[in-house]
Amino acid sequence: MIRARPHIAAMEAYALPDINATGGKQPISLALNESALPPSPNAIAAGSEALTSGQLYAHEGWSDLRSAIAEVHGLNRDDILCSGGSMALIETTMRCFSGPGDQVLASQYSYAFLRVAALAAGAQYIDAPEVNFTVSIDALLTAVRPATRIVCLVNPGNPTGTRVPRSEVVRLRDGLDDDILLLIDEAYGEFTDQPGERTFDLTELGNTVILRTFSKAYSLAGMRVGWGIYPAALRHEMLKLMGGNTVSVAAEAAAAAAMRDQTYMHNVCEETSRRRQRFTAQLRDLGFDVPESQTNFVLVKFATAGAASNADRMLRAAGYVLRSMGLYGLPDCLRATIGAQEDMDAVAGLLGTWLKEGNNK
Ligand SMILES: *Cc1c(COP(=O)(O)O)cnc(C)c1O
Repeated sequence: MIRARPHIAAMEAYALPDINATGGKQPISLALNESALPPSPNAIAAGSEALTSGQLYAHEGWSDLRSAIAEVHGLNRDDILCSGGSMALIETTMRCFSGPGDQVLASQYSYAFLRVAALAAGAQYIDAPEVNFTVSIDALLTAVRPATRIVCLVNPGNPTGTRVPRSEVVRLRDGLDDDILLLIDEAYGEFTDQPGERTFDLTELGNTVILRTFSKAYSLAGMRVGWGIYPAALRHEMLKLMGGNTVSVAAEAAAAAAMRDQTYMHNVCEETSRRRQRFTAQLRDLGFDVPESQTNFVLVKFATAGAASNADRMLRAAGYVLRSMGLYGLPDCLRATIGAQEDMDAVAGLLGTWLKEGNNK
């Protein structure tokens, strides 16, 4: 019989949620943090046009895409790596810089794929407690062990939506030994970008990597493009595992055009934030505990795990699928992606009725 390597056989798959609604309705997914809005028209045009020369391989090293990213962010294009989604960069980074006998450390409610990628690399995954659904830099620093090779910080966090300020990120880096890689996943960074809060400069230290993606603020999740800033020595090692051809021609062209259309992206972020603030206020008025999110989703805390799964069933029956959070160690919470305004209002209304019927217990 064919057997996988023991550490693979022992691990769980990265579980995507069941996005079926009950009652035969066409479900509306608010479960995957996809953008509520379509891609920039420029991205759609560029991606379609690129497909007409789809018989050719993409430019080695994603040349135009890296130029677009570098121009917009004032970065050196040689420091940028692209791949098929930031998940692919996370996976390769873990494989490149950790393995059997090593530990990967993250915060308690971090993005669940980090664990999968660390275990797939053969490393051990440990987490440090959060305080009020927010990363505790002190707890992370306390949890560091001699075997710790990579520390992961998702900022803003998923599934919490909360963000730690640049000063705290700097304090984390300062508190880590120079031979520990700090992997900062800023998948939602665009939603709160402010010049004074940027952390890109930390990559100049040579031991810090920053990841971003086209999947959230750029509305291109289906195109699968992520990018990261990797110091030269780390990039050199990463390229041994990746090669320069990991982004398709259509995805590269769409992403480069989306990057050059900053106005569109800013509008997506502003509209999403407006809807998020309205939805958050509605839920807090109902009495739900909702951490302050800086992303395109919110975490909603119920009285008990039973109440959360009861609400999940009620919403599915009405055609709305939120993300249940058992996998994240938060069985008493549901995560709601910010979608169309009428859908957010409908979900808030359904939860209000459900509460009045005395279900949150
Ligand atoms: C959505 C998400 C990603 C995945 O991004 P892709 O570029 O689509 O692979 C990475 N990190 C976090 C925290 C995310 O929420």
